[in-house]
This record gives sequence, structure tokens and C-alpha cells, in this order.
Amino acid sequence: MIIYDLKCENGHKFEGWFHDRNAFEEQKGQQLISCPICGSTDAELMPIFTFKIVNNHNILPILHENTPPPCIPPPLETVS
Ligand SMILES: [Zn+2]
Repeated sequence: MIIYDLKCENGHKFEGWFHDRNAFEEQKGQQLISCPICGSTDAELMPIFTFKIVNNHNILPILHENTPPPCIPPPLETVS
């Protein structure tokens, strides 16, 4: 899932959840996207939009307590 920041023709900002960019274009074409404030179906992506990839339970990115250490390549071992 992708969350897009959208803006309607009246300047209201709201979020829309879509499977992908194509799903957004499809729903926009069918006027299925409507502003929750004024009901306008003329919504556009914010010029600088943010998106978040969402899995079943969490919104990413999230900060984990156990952050892996900065990129340290694993030791190279030659197997002889
Ligand atoms: Zn609106």
C-alpha cells in the first residue's frame, strides 16, 4: 500500500491509500477519490508528495530499537 498526500481543487489536503500509482490514476479517472472536506473529486497529488510503504501491521519507516550497526561488511573468508 502507498499513502499519497493529495490536494483537492479547493486546496484541502488529505491522504489517500492506494495499492500503487496505477490504482490512484484509475480511481481518479473514475472520480472515486473525493475530498473528505468538500467532496470534490478533482484531487491531485501534492507537488512534493510523501508516500509510505505499508505492510499488514506497520507503517514504514519506523525506528527499531535494535538498529543494526553502520554498514560494516562481513569479513571475507576464503574457503580452501
Ligand atoms: Zn476539498
